[in-house]
Amino acid sequence: MNKATRKAVIAGNWKMNNTPAEATALINELKPLVKDADCDVVLCVPYIDLFAAMEAAKGSNIKIGAENCHWAEKGAFTGEVSAKMLAAAGVEYVIIGHSERRQYFGETDVTVHDRVRAALNENLKVILCVGETETENEQHITAEVLRKQTKIALQGVSEEELKNIIIAYEPVWAIGTGKVATADDACKYNGIIRDCIAELYTKEAAEGFTIQYGGSMNEKNAAELLAKVNVDGGLIGGASLVASKFAAIVEAASK
Ligand code: PEP
Repeated sequence: MNKATRKAVIAGNWKMNNTPAEATALINELKPLVKDADCDVVLCVPYIDLFAAMEAAKGSNIKIGAENCHWAEKGAFTGEVSAKMLAAAGVEYVIIGHSERRQYFGETDVTVHDRVRAALNENLKVILCVGETETENEQHITAEVLRKQTKIALQGVSEEELKNIIIAYEPVWAIGTGKVATADDACKYNGIIRDCIAELYTKEAAEGFTIQYGGSMNEKNAAELLAKVNVDGGLIGGASLVASKFAAIVEAASK
């Protein structure tokens, strides 16, 4: 399997944006624009928007995900939502390890691993985020950081379970900043993640494995990034909040 046979996944990460009514309106605007997509289209939305989003997306090719989940099934974790709750609600995808969670909410490689485990136990599809900070980038240790984050997150995950995971390479310095990795660097670092998957599993598993790029991807730069042999889609923040921009990225991935 290679890029031509791997299905691209374009996923929006709404972050802390949109009320339920705004979610419905945005998805209704987006549906006709992406209905012919030749890639998977996912919107990861705030917990409070999940039901409105799933209702609005019903009957369309848009899949709905959450932006995080807790590792425990239930318990005294005020403000948290478990993977089991998401699955029971009918949610299909979940982002885990987003750099904003790591940066602002104390997420570590170990808690990312625990959340991945919980999500897989509930048959959720995981978008696992990995990426280096600006300082790590300047220290030229990006490859080591990506390998470490990937290895810890996937500890104990079987090759069969790996089919429910995709990875988003998201350089932290590129998220929400307007700075974008060059297409060559996105390809190179996605390739390093793919090599790591081959080491942990098999070459075949690595070749079939979807690896997105995320970090200020927009309607203008998407085509160049997505054309790269190791870039199998995108995780999109800001541009996913505007239907026409997100649809243009979906179109770029469908070519
Ligand atoms: C993200 O939130 O994962 C992201 C990549 O954001 P942005 O596209 O705004 O940089």
